[in-house]
Amino acid sequence: MKMPLSMMRYMRNLPAELFPLVETVADLATDLRWSWSHAGDAVWKAMDPQLWEQSENPFVVLQNLSRERLEELNRNAQFKQHLDRLTEIRNSYCDRCSWFSEVHADAKLKGVAYFSMEFGLGKALPLYAGGLGVLAGDYLKAASDLALPVTAIGLLYQEGYFRQVLDATGWQQEIYPYNDSSSLPLRPVLARNGAWLQIPVELPGRIARLHVWEAQVGQVSLYLLDSNDLLNSALDRGITSKLYGGGEEMRLVQEIVLGIGGWRLIEALGLEIDICHLNEGHAAFVTLERARCFMEQQQIDFWDALWATRPGNVFTTHTPVAAGFDTFSRDLLAKYGLVYAKNLGVEPEELVRLGRSNGRDGNEPFNMAYLAARTCGKMNGVSRLHGEVSQGIFQDMYPRWPKCQVPVSYVTNGVHVPSWDSPWADEIWTHSCGKDRWLGTEEKLATAINALNDETLWAFRGQERADLVHQIRQRLRLQLGQRGMAANIIERADQVLDPNVLTLGFARRFTAYKRPNLLLYDLERFIHLLTHPEQPVQIIVAGKAHPADNEGKHFIQEWTQFATRPEIRKHVVFLEDYDISLAQEMVQGVDVWINTPRRPWEASGTSGMKVLANGGLNLSELDGWWAEAYTPEVGWALGDGREHSEPEWDAEEAEQLYSILENEVVPMFYDRDTGGIPRAWVARMRASMSLLAPQFSTNRMVREYIEQLYLPSAAAFQHRTATAGEAARSLRRWDEQLRRLWHEVHWGNLVVFEEKNGWTFRVQIYLGEVSPDFIQVQVYADPVEMNVPVCEIMKRHASIPGTVNGYLYISSVSTARPYTDFTPRIVAYHPDAFIPAENNLILWWSGTPELP
Ligand SMILES: *Cc1c(COP(=O)(O)O)cnc(C)c1O
Repeated sequence: MKMPLSMMRYMRNLPAELFPLVETVADLATDLRWSWSHAGDAVWKAMDPQLWEQSENPFVVLQNLSRERLEELNRNAQFKQHLDRLTEIRNSYCDRCSWFSEVHADAKLKGVAYFSMEFGLGKALPLYAGGLGVLAGDYLKAASDLALPVTAIGLLYQEGYFRQVLDATGWQQEIYPYNDSSSLPLRPVLARNGAWLQIPVELPGRIARLHVWEAQVGQVSLYLLDSNDLLNSALDRGITSKLYGGGEEMRLVQEIVLGIGGWRLIEALGLEIDICHLNEGHAAFVTLERARCFMEQQQIDFWDALWATRPGNVFTTHTPVAAGFDTFSRDLLAKYGLVYAKNLGVEPEELVRLGRSNGRDGNEPFNMAYLAARTCGKMNGVSRLHGEVSQGIFQDMYPRWPKCQVPVSYVTNGVHVPSWDSPWADEIWTHSCGKDRWLGTEEKLATAINALNDETLWAFRGQERADLVHQIRQRLRLQLGQRGMAANIIERADQVLDPNVLTLGFARRFTAYKRPNLLLYDLERFIHLLTHPEQPVQIIVAGKAHPADNEGKHFIQEWTQFATRPEIRKHVVFLEDYDISLAQEMVQGVDVWINTPRRPWEASGTSGMKVLANGGLNLSELDGWWAEAYTPEVGWALGDGREHSEPEWDAEEAEQLYSILENEVVPMFYDRDTGGIPRAWVARMRASMSLLAPQFSTNRMVREYIEQLYLPSAAAFQHRTATAGEAARSLRRWDEQLRRLWHEVHWGNLVVFEEKNGWTFRVQIYLGEVSPDFIQVQVYADPVEMNVPVCEIMKRHASIPGTVNGYLYISSVSTARPYTDFTPRIVAYHPDAFIPAENNLILWWSGTPELP
């Protein structure tokens, strides 16, 4: 059995009869499924109650057990029975007939490699900064639950992301605790010869060597590259030291390591991968290395290889503004690109052009998102609104294409419910929908939750809120103690919050666009709301600011200073060091989750989804996921569903926020019937739980990724890479020919005939040397609603007499719209090509049509 390093050390001093026990526990405790399954909680607690309570991590418990305790456990037959049972549960989880193997039994999807700079899998493996990482973590857990053939690739950071403590004035301090890789739940990955596997990556003047760790996330392996090896220079040992640490150059090197090193790792492990899924553009270099390997295997050139492998790459963008993309200066790229261009056998300048929107501007920086867009067959945003916003952001890459046809689709994010639901929620969901409810897809869950009665729902909400109050007081105690507060102040922690009071939650990154101080816009009004004598309100707040974001740190200080006012001290708690475990406590207990981003800056947002299964309600800006989830029966909406740049708009929304709270949320929460139940509130809980929780789960998200993106992409990838990339090579010839000859294509006249219910368009085109099979003539009209345009394919009718390669194209469109809405156009066409992702040529008809 492969063992974590710390275990090998630990076992050196143990008698051999303890090995089987230690090995069994280590095996179970390093499978991070314990973090969401909870089947083993009683066993971990039995090993050492105090260590378990302190760490909530069975692997930490194991590493701290004394030899005497191990011997006791080894003699304890009941304990060993429980362990056997746990092993059985794990085996049956791994062997079960999964949703994927049932529904997609004949799918030709061999393997998905999921690349991300961060993975948020909980505090046992702290390799994340925020939402992007938490999404990646939730994706892996769902991939395990649905038994998808997924392998994940990331970096092992020695210091992860910073941890937050606040000084006495409420100013954020950053600390970087060291992740000791040998005591994390990780196994070293060995090469066939038994030595530690090493992945080389060429950097200017040297080769950095990466070793590899494996984390087990249920059935999914997460491989982590680590440059902290004594064989590397001091500079290179630091490559994987901090997540998002260091400057522009360090970021570029990290991305080279993730992308290029990541693909080399896949090759070294001999994994069969048809889909590379890029969680954000950071890993985009993987597409180049993947093509390079195919080039070498097939002895073809780099561009043919890219045409072959591109459809197997899927790019998920998470950025709502172009300024959010990672870009690198021309000089930096010259420094690093030179080495690599030689490997690819291309000119450095050709490589650089892949990262520019318009290849000609020599000063345009190298943009990882453009590289990803050019080297991936499919691209998606993370909510419906974000899909549309992204179409705008990427429009420059598709000149003259209408925005709604820019090739960015969307798959709205979801959350891995078993990681975020409370024990109480687990109980009532299990009662209604069974224990295996999140092991398949989610379509049938709504009905069961709808059947729950008001009393059950309200009682469960109360239990969750009481747990939260208890946990928050404990955290506050610890926080005040660490800050060195006097004993009488620390004791006050036991008096904050009230388990029967309407509880709001607000936690996120503190940055300007999230408007974390919107609730503080009118302090007097807010205090009045909080301290209302009959219908009081309380709020729990948490969040980190980026170390370089002083504005964000000021927002934090504003909140913490507000929270110390004597009159509201009982009602407002700011907790430091927002992370997954604090998020879990908050989303399980709050009644209302508040989110106030400035539209459209919240690409999706996922924290609000985490309250759904727990019966919490959302009061949010109509942005990201909430713009598609909101209806009046499930929660409350802020804003008017449009973008506003005028500064007065914040005042307008603050006013809206207060009045929704004062006039709707608070009265509804406290409007109790004779049985003490707020019927209208509970009705909203039920609607939100049944309608939204299944829909905004990773189960739905993963299903959409498979069905809309992975399966068609895998089919295209297999077709193009078959027989040494034959189809890809002919596609490339098609593409080159078209680009070379495109200037010869031009229009003749256009005649529009009126029909009973529409129009007939007859247009002449002259193709020069371009084969008519290489193009498509369409008649196009912009969408009037729903982002779906009209796009009719025109039929080649006849050659125009006396011309070479001149044709008449005809199409009838039934429509009530005027003919002036419609414009013929010529676009590139090939049955195997993704248009316009792979070829963006387009020629619009212009002029005045003739009417007969
Ligand atoms: C869920 C989560 C996030 C993402 O939340 P947003 O909705 O994007 O604010 C960030 N950090 C942590 C710790 C989380 O659990």
